[in-house]
Amino acid sequence: MPLAVNLRHLEAHNISLEGSLPSEELDINPHDEVIQVRQPLDYGLEVQKLEDGLLIQGRLHLVLECQCVRCLKPFQYQLTLDHWTCHLPLRGEDCAAVVNDCVDLTPYVREDILLEFPRHPLCNSECRGLPRTSIGKARNIGGTGKPNVGSAVWAELNKLKF
Ligand SMILES: [Zn+2]
Repeated sequence: MPLAVNLRHLEAHNISLEGSLPSEELDINPHDEVIQVRQPLDYGLEVQKLEDGLLIQGRLHLVLECQCVRCLKPFQYQLTLDHWTCHLPLRGEDCAAVVNDCVDLTPYVREDILLEFPRHPLCNSECRGLPRTSIGKARNIGGTGKPNVGSAVWAELNKLKF
């Protein structure tokens, strides 16, 4: 079931939305290879109708499957927004799309969840990475975005030395 709210139901009273949204519907595709979304998003939201829009407040929780950028260890990152607030205008230029009296909240949740993704996931803020012997290999696999630049530079330097 999509994360949507029916405006007709909102006329009478606030709506509480609680449940979980499958990862396929949340449909977040981080470009970063070190973060995967495989678990459903849990939500507990209260939707309120305002004069010209909707006010949504509540909790969002998503478990991310991450790989530590330092030691490559897989770990789970708990992404929690305890006081998520979203104001959706129903009029004007940036108004939310209404289809059959329903507003799909998924795009707004997706956008704000993405903003909370860790930039450089670490299994532990103290993580010291891999032992020295395997650092070169780790750089090639890891998610620095420029995997081969470092090793190419070193290869050049080695040539100069000999
Ligand atoms: Zn680590």
